[in-house]
Amino acid sequence: MSSSDDEGGEEYLFKIVIIGDSAVGKSNLLSRYARNEFNLHSKATIGVEFQTQVMDIDGKEVKAQIWDTAGQERFRAVTSAYYRGAVGALIVYDISRRSTFDSVGRWLDELKTHSDTTVARMLVGNKCDLENIRDVTVEEGTSLAEAEGFFFMETSALDSTNVKKAFEIVIREIYNNVS
Ligand code: GDP
Ligand code: MG
Repeated sequence: MSSSDDEGGEEYLFKIVIIGDSAVGKSNLLSRYARNEFNLHSKATIGVEFQTQVMDIDGKEVKAQIWDTAGQERFRAVTSAYYRGAVGALIVYDISRRSTFDSVGRWLDELKTHSDTTVARMLVGNKCDLENIRDVTVEEGTSLAEAEGFFFMETSALDSTNVKKAFEIVIREIYNNVS
């Protein structure tokens, strides 16, 4: 996080990381939020390091630098550099694949190892458009998030449900933590 004060206007830069098992939709959540794009056949290896989104909060310019993995999570090799300096995190699972929900604890442990406790966290159950093959209930997501003390939201990068909302809640929470 950094904040500068030039020409009277304050600026904020927040690093946010997206973590979770392979193929839960991390890259598509980011491309939906940053570019309003969705890719049915996105390749895990294609990905930029981060995208920057600018938001206005209380008349202040807030820049969110949102990091996406380049597929390293397949090899359980997300490095400490990825987490370094992060002040927010979205921990994503796929509501149609229970194994990805079961992995959330491991991702949380990794996050705790590499960042400090003030990181604003949101648990994200993605692919809520796949209601017909749902494998994790809304209640399960809610109670896990409650137990850990962070936000929860079900999203769909495919039909855009709650994507903007999820990112903006995290960005606002970070802003509230620092301002
Ligand atoms: P990542 O490995 O976590 O970055 O996952 P990707 O963003 O590459 O997505 C993996 C696959 O899931 C791709 O085929 C996407 O098209 C698909 N996908 C991502 N988000 C959604 C979603 O919200 N709904 C549905 N039905 N499919 C999704
Ligand atoms: Mg990806």
